[in-house]
Amino acid sequence: MFENFDSARGARYVTAVYAALAHGAPLPLTDRCTECGEVPGWPNEDHITLPRPDGSAAVVIGCEGYYLINPNLVGIDAPDWQPLPADLDKTSQVVLGYSDDHVAVTVATDGNHFILTWNDYVTNEWSETYPALSIALARFAALMRCSEHNWDIGFVNTPGTFVAAAEQFLASEAS
Ligand SMILES: [Zn+2]
Repeated sequence: MFENFDSARGARYVTAVYAALAHGAPLPLTDRCTECGEVPGWPNEDHITLPRPDGSAAVVIGCEGYYLINPNLVGIDAPDWQPLPADLDKTSQVVLGYSDDHVAVTVATDGNHFILTWNDYVTNEWSETYPALSIALARFAALMRCSEHNWDIGFVNTPGTFVAAAEQFLASEAS
C-alpha cells in the first residue's frame, strides 16, 4: 500500500485513534486526504479511514502514508510529526503538493484564487494568495530556488509586490 510504511506502528496508531474517538476525545478530524485532496469515504483501499457517527469518514492515514492526526494526541510518541501545510476548507481543491526535508508546499484553489501555503519547518507556516495559477506557480518556483540554495538566498518581492514581477516575467515568456 505505502512505500516504507511501518504497518505495526500504523496499526498501533489507528487503534489509538479509534479508541480516542470512541472515548469522545476532541481530535481534529478531516474527511479530506491532505495528500491528494480527495474525500475518500469509508472503506477505501488507498486511505485508512474510520467511519464517523454522521456517516462521513475521517481520514486517519493519507494515501502516501501520512498520519493526518497528530499521533502525540493519542499516546503514540512521534517527536518529528509535523502538520501538513494544507489547511483548506472543503470547497478548495489541491492543485499541487510537494515536500522534502527542507520545505512543504501546497498550491490549492477555492475556485477564485490560488493559495500557496508553505512551511520551512523553522519559522511559521505561510499562506499567500494569488489571482492566477501561473503566478502562484511562479512564486512556487521562486520558493524552490530559495530552498535549493539552502535558504542562503531569499525572496526579492513580498507576496504583495510579487504579482507585478511575475506578470512582467510571464509576459516576456508568453505574449
Ligand atoms: Zn489521498
